[in-house]
Amino acid sequence: MTGLRITVLPGDGIGPEVVAQALAVLDAVAPEVEVDVLDRVNATTFARTGAALTDDDLARIRASDALLLGAIGDPSVRSPDYARGVLLRLRFELDLYVNQRPAVLLHARLSPLRDPARRGIDCVIVRENTEGAYTGIGGTLRKWTPHETAIDADVSTYHGVSRVIEHAFRIARREVCVVDKANAVPFGGELWQRCWREAAGRHPGIATSHLYVDVAAMTLVSDPTRFDVVVASNAHGDILSDVAAAVAGGLGAAPSANLDPATGFGLYEPVHGSAPDIAGTGVANPLGAIASLAMLLADHGHEDQAQAIQTAIRSTVDKRRCTPDLGGALTTEQAAAAVIAELA
Ligand code: ATP
Ligand code: MG
Repeated sequence: MTGLRITVLPGDGIGPEVVAQALAVLDAVAPEVEVDVLDRVNATTFARTGAALTDDDLARIRASDALLLGAIGDPSVRSPDYARGVLLRLRFELDLYVNQRPAVLLHARLSPLRDPARRGIDCVIVRENTEGAYTGIGGTLRKWTPHETAIDADVSTYHGVSRVIEHAFRIARREVCVVDKANAVPFGGELWQRCWREAAGRHPGIATSHLYVDVAAMTLVSDPTRFDVVVASNAHGDILSDVAAAVAGGLGAAPSANLDPATGFGLYEPVHGSAPDIAGTGVANPLGAIASLAMLLADHGHEDQAQAIQTAIRSTVDKRRCTPDLGGALTTEQAAAAVIAELA
């Protein structure tokens, strides 16, 4: 495919540091990709203007094929309008209903698990990204009284559940494990189960299983190698994807994609946040951002380049040519340079 155009939103904290390195890798593997950098979308601009993501920014993003994002969030901005204004606006306006997080152990030394036979995690957590418990629907009754009651609705729609489960089956290599809590949350649970059976019927070549979320969390730790694709609601997927990232060796190298499979548009970002505690110190691991770029390229007709990046990442981690969080001693820039050297 030719003519790929991406928007890049470096954001805050270590976001710009890791994104700069992802762009260096892009330059090495696919210099023809057109890059539009939105460097005014950050906490500094928000503090000055009160605007998080403008209509003009959104128009530029829509005009591109995909968005690569560093991180949004800054301790100096207390208003929740900032992160919500950027991330939730993008998620809802672009209908990015799939949050996809591969969890792959890059090297045995990074596993927190003692039993070597249990270490080889290589799965994808597919999290529903637009509904569930995170819609903000609800309210508080009898506030400031002893009878105060807070209600957050857990919303499942047939449209929302069936499309995310369908996506899980489409990307599966061998099996889809559907996770819910149908034994305790019956109405949404019944809908998830029905959508699961319908999708399984459409994909007879893919094996399938079901786990309650508590058992799924336990199994991700006790037997992570059994999973291929796990699909879950917004809240369950949020938690399970962090468990999977931890079992796979931590945040620094974990990539993610927020996708609308219907249009093919995606927002790709490292799983970690802005990590203000290490911003400016040069130790931020760039591999999460670089692996997110690889996901972007794989989804947009550059499978070979994506594969080459994955191989290069694995090889640098093997040789400990990486940042301290993965047992190396390199800086952000040196770790990316090591990936680029492997590519060459
Ligand atoms: P945010 O509010 O933007 O999510 P945060 O304070 O939650 O930021 P995270 O970015 O989620 O911070 O990271 C949690 C911790 O993990 C950080 O304090 C940092 O020490 C570590 N960390 C995160 N990302 C990286 C990275 N790329 N390289 C090394 N360490 C990291
Ligand atoms: Mg965080």
